[in-house]
Amino acid sequence: MLRHPPGTEDLRRAADELASRLPSALAPFARLAFNYRWSWALGGDELFAAIDAHRWEACGRNPLRLLEEAPMVSLERAAGDRELIGRAYSLEESIRDELARTPDGNRGDPEHPVAFLCAEYGVHVSLPVYAGGLGVLAGDLLKAASDMGLPLVAIGLLYRQGYFRQRFDESGWQHEYWVDVDPPRLPGAIVTRDGTDPLVIHVPIRGRDVAVQMWRFDIGRVPLYLLDTDLPENKPIDRWIASQLYVGDPVARLAQYALLGVGGARALRALGIEPEVLHLNEGHPALAPLEWAATRVEGGDSFEEAFESARARTVFTTHTPVPAGNERYPAEDLMRVFGGLDRRLGTGWAEILDLARIQAGNTEDAPGMTALGLRVSRAANGVSERHGEVARSIWRPAFGAGSDHEVPLAHVTNGVHVSTWMAEPVRRLLAEHLGEDWERRKRDPDTWAKIADLPDAELWRVRCELRSRLVEYIRERATLDRLARGEAADYVELAETAFDPDRLTMGFARRLATYKRLNLVSRDLQRALKLIDGPRSLQILLAGKAHPSDDSAKHVVQQLFKARRAPHVGERIAYLHDYDMGMAQWLVSGCDVWVNLPRPPLEASGTSGMKAAMNGALNLSVLDGWWVEAQDDCGGWSLPGDVDADHEAQDDRDAQMLLDTLEKEVLPLFYDRDKDGIPRGWMERVKASIRTSAMRFSAERMLGDYVETTYFPRAKGKGASPKR
Ligand SMILES: *Cc1c(COP(=O)(O)O)cnc(C)c1O
Repeated sequence: MLRHPPGTEDLRRAADELASRLPSALAPFARLAFNYRWSWALGGDELFAAIDAHRWEACGRNPLRLLEEAPMVSLERAAGDRELIGRAYSLEESIRDELARTPDGNRGDPEHPVAFLCAEYGVHVSLPVYAGGLGVLAGDLLKAASDMGLPLVAIGLLYRQGYFRQRFDESGWQHEYWVDVDPPRLPGAIVTRDGTDPLVIHVPIRGRDVAVQMWRFDIGRVPLYLLDTDLPENKPIDRWIASQLYVGDPVARLAQYALLGVGGARALRALGIEPEVLHLNEGHPALAPLEWAATRVEGGDSFEEAFESARARTVFTTHTPVPAGNERYPAEDLMRVFGGLDRRLGTGWAEILDLARIQAGNTEDAPGMTALGLRVSRAANGVSERHGEVARSIWRPAFGAGSDHEVPLAHVTNGVHVSTWMAEPVRRLLAEHLGEDWERRKRDPDTWAKIADLPDAELWRVRCELRSRLVEYIRERATLDRLARGEAADYVELAETAFDPDRLTMGFARRLATYKRLNLVSRDLQRALKLIDGPRSLQILLAGKAHPSDDSAKHVVQQLFKARRAPHVGERIAYLHDYDMGMAQWLVSGCDVWVNLPRPPLEASGTSGMKAAMNGALNLSVLDGWWVEAQDDCGGWSLPGDVDADHEAQDDRDAQMLLDTLEKEVLPLFYDRDKDGIPRGWMERVKASIRTSAMRFSAERMLGDYVETTYFPRAKGKGASPKR
């Protein structure tokens, strides 16, 4: 079945139609456009950019839009460039070969793949159906599944407006705006029955049967199906269900969860896919196994039998380290939005609500999707070793366990997709020194034995090239950001020459939740300003979005903006507007130091630090999330990870430790050069950083762990046993 899952023909037809509208030599580009595999192939991005570099950026690196919107002169010039066309054919061929090959030694059954359900996917900047870390992690997992040949299909939602875009006004206050996504201009296709009629399913939400169609996107060999309710037969409010990611209104959110969970299970059935494992990534899709159970009840099973059989196929990953407080809902809201589920399951609401409560039977306890996720799955995990511990302690009451050790919640440490996040110059350098096939051997320690021999001068040249590319990018972005804010001309112009390709560059870019403690950077402002003064100093790049309703996080940025006219700030510090995957790729590859300052233990994993490390950046991080596992071998610096109830005192101490480390360790090591101008001590650490992150924090390692411990555990129950 998985050889030609539904939608295969629809995508092929879309590519053929596109090709028919282009100069004929560009046909391979049209075919490449409809599978995101190009996006992590060496030279893939360059290939499209070569058609029209300006257009490529202007249409957000969306290959379909590029080919439809580039002026005819660009298309014809490209069509006449034999070398370029040759490269396109050879990339197409190598991708076709790769996808046709069945990798050996794989687990999983192509007839019964793993079904992965998630509310967001960060596959590429041109597919705006992600908000942040959770989505990017999901996108990375799909790419790893493709690389490893693990049979897997993915289900999500097609948001018509995606996540919000961010801009700042002159006072430094964040404003949000939404941009309409035009699905026919995304490189996917509506799944049809027979080439004409869309395959439509119906999902009961808020008492109405909502019609849902599916778009298919190909991520290498993994089909990603996105559910879409924007159909004329639906009422306006139902068409709007999947408009924006993480809407604030609880009933609207629950409607999204019904669409993803119930709709996801029904979509799989309509597609003819019977998964061996259902992986719920976060609680949002947790209704899917209940929908499976409902089908069995309709077929004559008892609720208990049906529930157990669904649970036996379901696994669950929790990503939140905060006690269940946030995502809980009034029971009436669940009953209203998921109405009819009780009847279909042949049980009462009391039983269903109990599944979603931390303490079953306690009607005071508001139900939530994480508790439901834990109860409907045979195995559950957190996303780092420390997060596993934290999650066991949070969820102990739900399992009625006497001690945290007894809570059946393990961990699989997150990882990131190396070919997506490691910049091409680093990939090419490693291919030269570790062997062309190093990307397939990265989990083998032998592959890395040779990294010690990698000439410092070459690696340093690559690091400098990445930093100077980043500086070019920052100058342009900062100029535009400042213009958009209506800043004074002198301050705008400062951006054009700002940032120095040789200066130590520090990055801090992440979701602006208060617990991420961006405020530590400016807590002792006078001292921080000294660090950016003088020739051997720092430059600092900041970016990140605050949730629209999180005013306290917005105030933190506004405070920072107040210092923007202080000496050197205009040319050494920038807060970049509108952080997304595209910007993340620039930042993680070009920064020398990557800073993470969460309030422990609130960082479940953190993944941007892994991306930076793969490019040779050194992490300076609080000991929380993934960094606890990496710090000994990753060449960076650590701040204490203890939990402290006195937040003010903790912040004062950590802010000083951050500045101390920068001043006394980071800066001296970076500027300590030998006669060839190379910072030898720094390069030692850079090599450790690349080796450790690529070997141990890759998405392949993560997915390999899921396969071994969770999807197909050899010893029964192994995946569910807590790690001691
Ligand atoms: C990797 C990534 C994140 C997650 O970063 P954290 O370190 O986990 O905060 C968020 N947003 C984007 C765009 C990313 O690429």
